[in-house]
Amino acid sequence: MTDDELFLTAILNCSRSDLYLHPRPLTVQEQVQLDEMRSRRAAGEPVQYIVGFTEFFGYRFEVGPDVLVPRPETEVLADVLIRELKAQNKKEYLILDIGTGSGCLAITMAKELAHCRVVAVDISPKALAYARRNVGINKVVDQIEFIERDMFWFMDETAHRFDAIISNPPYIPTAAMGTLPMDVKQEPELALQAGPDGLHFYRFIVPSSRRVLKDQGVLAVEFGDGQAKELQNLFAITGPWDKIQTCNDNAGRPRVIMAQIAR
Ligand code: GLN
Repeated sequence: MTDDELFLTAILNCSRSDLYLHPRPLTVQEQVQLDEMRSRRAAGEPVQYIVGFTEFFGYRFEVGPDVLVPRPETEVLADVLIRELKAQNKKEYLILDIGTGSGCLAITMAKELAHCRVVAVDISPKALAYARRNVGINKVVDQIEFIERDMFWFMDETAHRFDAIISNPPYIPTAAMGTLPMDVKQEPELALQAGPDGLHFYRFIVPSSRRVLKDQGVLAVEFGDGQAKELQNLFAITGPWDKIQTCNDNAGRPRVIMAQIAR
């Protein structure tokens, strides 16, 4: 959808095809809304913040400043883990989502895997407020527990043992923060920035996951451009991990790594 199509579907609460099948002139108030959305966009605000929602894996998510906009490439992460867990065909799953943000991964897991429960951790109370609303919108309240906690503390303290861990942690190197597109710069730095080489969070998540995964538990994480080798190496030195696999996003770039614990 073009920006204008998206704005109009939000203002008129209709689908894209409705815009063309049932066209009608805008009221004065609708025109004012459209003009305001266009000028916010021209000032560099992400379209999803302006309309207040986005779609991820076919589900609707409320978003706004203070929460990362779910990305299409993150759907690959969700998809890879869903396929793996469906193939395992267990009766129930306990999944950990580290840095849940809008809740897009936790909620998608809950929707797609009937017998799963998800513990979703985030350090940001503002992000969790969105995640909680999104759980309501997507009607998976009973399957998800949110915890406001720094991941470092959570992993140390938790008594849970998980069947799977999923995470799309911050992975932008500090020096690259200044070169991000204008709209990405309006997203929370907390959700993006990950130290000098962008690997800060993986160095913690990969080894500490071994401690909180059940036998045969699976860890799946998204990573950034050019980080595949270092991620593979990190798994190799924190192992033993089995079945380490790297998957590409829809643009053909390595984007997700998944591995199963071997003890
Ligand atoms: N899990 C959320 C997402 O994938 C938030 C990730 C983040 O804030 N780094 O969109």
